[in-house]
Amino acid sequence: VASDSARILAVTKYGAPLDLIEVSLPDPEPGAIIVEMDIASICGSDVHQWSGRFAEVFDLQMPICTGHEGVGRVYVPTDGAELDSVGTPLAVGDRVIWEHEACGHCYECQVLHDDVLCRKRRTGMLTSATSFPYAAGTFGSHGYVWPKAGRIRVPDDVKSEWASAASCALRTVIPAVEKAGSIGPDDTVAIQGVGPLGLFATAVLSLRSPKRLITIGSPAGRQQLAREWGATDTITLEDYPDAAARKDAVLEATDGRGADFVFEFAGAPAALGEALDMAARDGTCVTVGTAAGPASPVFAHQIILKQLTVRGSFSGRIGHYAKALDFMSRYRERFDWDRLFTTRYPPDRITEALEAMQHGAEVKPLVLTQEIS
Ligand SMILES: [Zn+2]
Ligand SMILES: [Zn+2]
Repeated sequence: VASDSARILAVTKYGAPLDLIEVSLPDPEPGAIIVEMDIASICGSDVHQWSGRFAEVFDLQMPICTGHEGVGRVYVPTDGAELDSVGTPLAVGDRVIWEHEACGHCYECQVLHDDVLCRKRRTGMLTSATSFPYAAGTFGSHGYVWPKAGRIRVPDDVKSEWASAASCALRTVIPAVEKAGSIGPDDTVAIQGVGPLGLFATAVLSLRSPKRLITIGSPAGRQQLAREWGATDTITLEDYPDAAARKDAVLEATDGRGADFVFEFAGAPAALGEALDMAARDGTCVTVGTAAGPASPVFAHQIILKQLTVRGSFSGRIGHYAKALDFMSRYRERFDWDRLFTTRYPPDRITEALEAMQHGAEVKPLVLTQEIS
């Protein structure tokens, strides 16, 4: 690749193999960084974008940049990009993770101070490869850190594949747990979903030492990992195929009260209804996983009669990226982060990886972006 061009994997037709296309490297804006991609990982959102489900919600122009999880090495820094978002100096070759870019001028950015809610966010995987900055995703030889986007240097003891998963899954779990409020040794916790979100949540919540930490989901192999990471009880969909049986299992594990905290990381439309069902009186439900999909009914009276607190949590701010990397670094002896990763796909097999994700055959596959040249 010439130093002024990048090769990126792009969606040119929904559900069809991604195309490897050559694009110009942008002339970076002050504060922006062009990175050389070290590694990327695939998320459920990438499958939604590739399969065309995002097209129902967003105005997308083909060819579309792909990938939003990844680690890049500083390749072309600019004035204003000397430090990361927490003040660590950044040099050429340093590894970084970064966020989408909030506008910094809207009500949500300036009054609510929550850039996740910004209505004018610039997001790489919603950007056409024909528009600036051309290489806006993470599935390519290069990527682009938007000028106002937060960025965090990856600590030396955090592997790039771990940091890649931290850049989406773990940074989503951390604010969701914060929003639930204080959780301690007298509480019972249920986690719906044993994908990357559910497994990271198990690790994070196990350190609060709740009385019971119940994980719900499939396949059974992931429940084994959930137990090693601190789950006291595991409920598989194979053993408990219907919602009533799952609720009974949660009641049994919680002295008939239900769980004080239920975290929905399942990504199934019916999961929130089940969460309300298995929550204890005065309990809290945080829903995160089901950010797309068809409508599904819930029994709203449960919120009233049990006086539940129901909260949504979406993505995370740059401070959550910093906390995610710090968590991985501090607890790398306690949790074997390598166990999350299933297959390492060379770039020409990425479509196979997306299909495997779609069928639930992968937890967190990696894309070897260094092989794109
Ligand atoms: Zn993601
Ligand atoms: Zn904004």
